Amino acid sequence: MLKNKKLPSVEEIKDLKGKVVLLRASLNVPVENGKVVNQFRIMHAMPTINFLRQAGAKTVMIGHIGRDPEETLKPVYDVLSTLFEAKWCDKTVGEKVTSAISELAEGELLLLENLRQDSREKSNDETFAKELADLAEIYVNDAFDAAHREQASLVGIPKFIPSYFGLNFLNEYSELSKAMTPQEPSLFIIGGAKFETKLPLIEKYARTYSKVMIGGALANDMFKAKGHEIGQSLVSDIDLRETEVLSHSNILLPVDVTVKGDDGVRVTEPDTVMSHEAILDIGPRTVALIKEEASKAKSILWNGPMGNYENGYNTGTEGVAVAISEADSHTIIGGGDTVAAIETLAIEDKFDFISIAGGAMLIYLESGTLPAIEAVVEAE
Ligand code: ADP
Ligand code: MG
Repeated sequence: MLKNKKLPSVEEIKDLKGKVVLLRASLNVPVENGKVVNQFRIMHAMPTINFLRQAGAKTVMIGHIGRDPEETLKPVYDVLSTLFEAKWCDKTVGEKVTSAISELAEGELLLLENLRQDSREKSNDETFAKELADLAEIYVNDAFDAAHREQASLVGIPKFIPSYFGLNFLNEYSELSKAMTPQEPSLFIIGGAKFETKLPLIEKYARTYSKVMIGGALANDMFKAKGHEIGQSLVSDIDLRETEVLSHSNILLPVDVTVKGDDGVRVTEPDTVMSHEAILDIGPRTVALIKEEASKAKSILWNGPMGNYENGYNTGTEGVAVAISEADSHTIIGGGDTVAAIETLAIEDKFDFISIAGGAMLIYLESGTLPAIEAVVEAE
């Protein structure tokens, strides 16, 4: 398995002037009423876009948006149009696309429609990958956050044309690599839900990091395995008593929790939750504990919210965000919900690195590679 290998960079491509480059970007932004409501990902795509434009390439940009295959990338085009003179085509492959590409001048960019409008994208169909590859001479993958998906535009295209990675991709790759070898003492904080998807990562990082704090709904599974009453709390599809995760002495759990029951919300110890209550956040003593651990750590890695923050139980997550932002350590954070909390607080610049990847970040941290990376390395 490949680890911390130097990946081929868009900056190494010779004579980009006039070449047609297929740029797989990360354009999966939230849209409401036809308008992009958060441009975070588009801004991360700009360094590679600008690099290709300045080098005189003819850039054909592709990406996906949303879960509904009907969704359109047109709102993303509208944002790009405010930044530079971009072009738009409402198809992903075919004659209309090839003719739009033939009209591109050096340094221009054409955005194609949501790849998922063609079902062959998600089914990783090789003929779809070939049709996309045939549009261009060179492929550049800049979509780190999608690199864990075995889909045509991510793992299929490198079989057909010379392939490279974009600047956002390479930045994610090298910054997250640092999290794999933290400086001691180190602190890994993991929250969110779905323990079954995070167990291998937690097991691995319990051996790599000095301390691992488990918060969010993940802590509920730990409390349950320890035999505590957790009432109506959200739990995962896993029985942790059948795993070794309880045996790690460096795993920390919340020392207090915010629970909601028939008679309102209260803060209590994790072993005094009542059967009608649900744990929805960590409590203030746990935030203080994390703040203390963060102040001692040289490296901090955080992914996943500490509570059900989108429904108002955001005190724990925001408290942890502030505590980490104030720590004098190397700080790496990621995950959609975690990043959203930080944006609300407008403290983005107080972290060493914010990953725009969620699932891909976790899989990369766990395995040191991703299918889209392997696809390019294998084709080399
Ligand atoms: P991320 O999206 O950051 O990668 P996950 O998808 O694993 O993380 O989990 C995030 C979800 O977990 C959020 O919807 C959040 O509300 C939920 N969550 C976290 N803690 C709790 C809790 N104690 N009770 C219910 N939901 C929770
Ligand atoms: Mg999520």
